[in-house]
This record gives sequence, C-alpha cells and structure tokens, in this order.
Amino acid sequence: MLERDRYNGICRGNDSGYKKVKTIELKYGNTNTFYIEGDAGGLLVDTDYAGTLFAFYKAIKAAGIRVTDIKYVLATHYHPDHCGLVSELMQQGVQLLLPDVQKDGVHYSDAIFTRDGLSYTPIEEEKATVIPCAESRAFLAGLGIAGQIMHTPSHSPDSVSLALDNGDLFVGDLEPLEYIAAYEDNTQLKADWEQILAIHPKRICYAHRPTQMR
Ligand SMILES: [Zn+2]
Repeated sequence: MLERDRYNGICRGNDSGYKKVKTIELKYGNTNTFYIEGDAGGLLVDTDYAGTLFAFYKAIKAAGIRVTDIKYVLATHYHPDHCGLVSELMQQGVQLLLPDVQKDGVHYSDAIFTRDGLSYTPIEEEKATVIPCAESRAFLAGLGIAGQIMHTPSHSPDSVSLALDNGDLFVGDLEPLEYIAAYEDNTQLKADWEQILAIHPKRICYAHRPTQMR
C-alpha cells in the first residue's frame, strides 16, 4: 500500500474501474483483510484469527461499513489467520462464498482454535454458497463486482486469489513473485503467477505484506 493512501488505518483503493468498485483494507490484527464494495452487495476477503470479532466490528465501523452491508465472505484459504471469523459472520447473516476447491479445507483450523482455547464454532459449510471458480465471474457480476476467483494452490491446496477487472488482485498468502527464484522446484508457484500475470494486475494485495503497485 502506498503510504499516501493510508489514513486512519484504512486504505482505500482506486475508485476507477467497473461501476466504481471500491476496495477498503481492514486491518484489525495480523492479517490484511479487504472489503470490496459492489453495487449490489459487499464482499469481505479474509478475516483474521478467531477471537478478533470485537476488533473487526471497530474496524468496519471506522470504515463506515455495517455488517449488514457484507453480503458474502470469501477466505483466500482456511489457515487460522484467514478464516477465524467466518462462522461468527455467518451467524450474523453474512453468507459464505465457497469455491468448490476449498471444500476440503473448511475445517483445517478447527483443531488449532480448540488448541488455543478459543471459543469457536466450526463453519457449517452446508450453508455456504458453493461455486466452481469457472463460474465466479458470473457470480460476482451479481454483486456488481467485475472479476474472477482463481485457484492458486501453491500456498495450500485450498488457496484462491481474487482478481478484479479494475486491477486489484488479492492473493492471500501466495509467495511474492520475487521469491520465485528461491523456489526453483516449485512449479506450482510459477504456474500460479503465470495465471495471475496473464490478467495484468495493477495492485497486488497480500495478507501479510505491503500492497504492491505494478
Ligand atoms: Zn496461509
């Protein structure tokens, strides 16, 4: 994220692009999470760890977002620092958008939260909206968001990236492009980036690194 874009802990993305889709960064713990404001509903990309709900509510309030504005939540993958609030948000009426490649990952963090002594309700995936990545463009269009979800499994088998047509790209924990040289044998990482670069992103938003402009 460019420093000039940062204020009050909230980062606002370009207003340019399809139907003025706006990206708001919400950081209330260790993970950069993002809210994408579509004309017909908001999409939250990632949550932080379980136990961060109070901090989350403070962050969305500061950003002028109500929980009822959030129609769907998408986790880039189901490591604990990305999906900890998904079940609580579902209880608040937010729907879970679950690409079918993530179905086996949904309960990955249950044992971790239990180990940490956190009160955590496992996700009820039968209530999720399950879509193949290939249908994500049509699905997102229904929210007024032009973009697509891509399966980018080098970080974990259930990892996905969200690419917006305005150039914003959300990659979760995908290793940065510059690290490819350090992963000579990681053909999957190379394949993930080839897939991503083919759509010419302008801003790469990582979960644990500063946003990169391209
Ligand atoms: Zn991860």
